[in-house]
Amino acid sequence: MIKSNESKYFAAVDSREAALTELSQKVWEYAEPGLQEKQSAKAIADYLESEGFRVQRGVGTIPTAICAEYGSGHPVIAYLGEYDALARLDQKVVTHKEAAHPEEPDRYGHGCGHNNLGVGAVGAAIMLKEAIAAGEVKGTVRFYGCPAEETLVGKVFMVRDGAFKDVDCAMTWHSHAYNGAWGACYTCMNSVKFHFHGIAAHAAGHPFDGRSALDAVELMNVSANYMREHVKPDVRIHYATICSCAPNVVPDECSVWYYIRAPKRKDVDEVYSWLCDCAKGAALMTQTTFDIEFLTGCSEVMPNDVLEKVMLEAYKDTGAPKFTPEDYAFAKEIAETYPEVLARDRRVMKEEYGVNGDDKFLCDVVFDKVIEDRLVAPGSTDVGDVSHVVPTYQIYVAGQGIGCPGHSWQMTAYSGSHVGFASMLCAAKVMGLSGLRLLENPELVKEAWDNFHKNQTEPYVSPLPADLLPNLEQTN
Ligand SMILES: [Zn+2]
Repeated sequence: MIKSNESKYFAAVDSREAALTELSQKVWEYAEPGLQEKQSAKAIADYLESEGFRVQRGVGTIPTAICAEYGSGHPVIAYLGEYDALARLDQKVVTHKEAAHPEEPDRYGHGCGHNNLGVGAVGAAIMLKEAIAAGEVKGTVRFYGCPAEETLVGKVFMVRDGAFKDVDCAMTWHSHAYNGAWGACYTCMNSVKFHFHGIAAHAAGHPFDGRSALDAVELMNVSANYMREHVKPDVRIHYATICSCAPNVVPDECSVWYYIRAPKRKDVDEVYSWLCDCAKGAALMTQTTFDIEFLTGCSEVMPNDVLEKVMLEAYKDTGAPKFTPEDYAFAKEIAETYPEVLARDRRVMKEEYGVNGDDKFLCDVVFDKVIEDRLVAPGSTDVGDVSHVVPTYQIYVAGQGIGCPGHSWQMTAYSGSHVGFASMLCAAKVMGLSGLRLLENPELVKEAWDNFHKNQTEPYVSPLPADLLPNLEQTN
């Protein structure tokens, strides 16, 4: 139940509804690639500064990262917020597919709702700031602007560079079709490019003078596909060949980009080492050379039972996002573009979480049961690395319709609509209230750390080489 001293801080979010919505809308319109979120980071940093936060622009090796804080001493409560967009997902806020900037086909769009993630975390930080400023609670609130989540770069580098070393608890959220605590573990991952170098030659006249870098990539991929049978069943290996060659030239340059995923870091490391041997073999077979560009890696998410309880209680007390009749009408109309997934997700709601959503297009209740509780979900997130250095927890807030596909034009439309903004305001309140309760009851922070130590069975090692710099040009 909400106490009266808590409900008054909801006003900190409500009174800024227009400003927060405008900020989110701005970030949605900028729609910048990961590590290039210059305008988005500036808009967020400027806003936090106007709210009285001490703002650091650029964190460690990442220029578009932000660390903004208010208050002093421990506990230090951190909110993690993103603002990177996805390639080729430009879209208007309408219920049919229509680019907002058709003249720019490669334009990025917020097809994962990160405009709302970042600003939701800003709202939470402001709510807690107000409580600290009023002398209601003691401690520090921090907003971490975390670039390039989609490419799993930002937080992993920030963790390696020590950005979270004095944080007591971290919280974050993601847009979803459902409302609830999010208990999934996700997979560890390495993202690596192998660049092969050969000798160019006329493909018909002098092929014997050439050495094909594309042949090397093809042989490496063949060997990786044979290796696939002999790795653990839950290992995932995906690749994309990068070659701008034509059939009439023996290509001297060709690259292949691999992702390796597995529930445990040890398995990723083993498969990665085997894959490097595949590259060596391919180079030997084709008389080419190669070098490795290690882009990033990330770790699995370590849930925290104590923060889970705190956040789920705060969520139930706050309630689901406040949707308008227009939001429901928008969701009903756009759902015509994903009828199968709508039916499946309604089934999941009923069978897994006991919520009858048969006539719903937007989820307007908070689930009692933890979503994907301790499951190894197939994707990866850089929140994982934060969760290995500080007790961390995330919630899902409905910022999209039931059944809305992820990374899609529909998602870009939702993220720029009132549905997305309603989820952002809700997330701000749930995370703000959770932070308030942690500062009111510092023994919960200690319990969160006890649980952290219990769950962490092996010491955390960054998946990144110590001297690796982020590739600021890397956008996909
Ligand atoms: Zn996302």
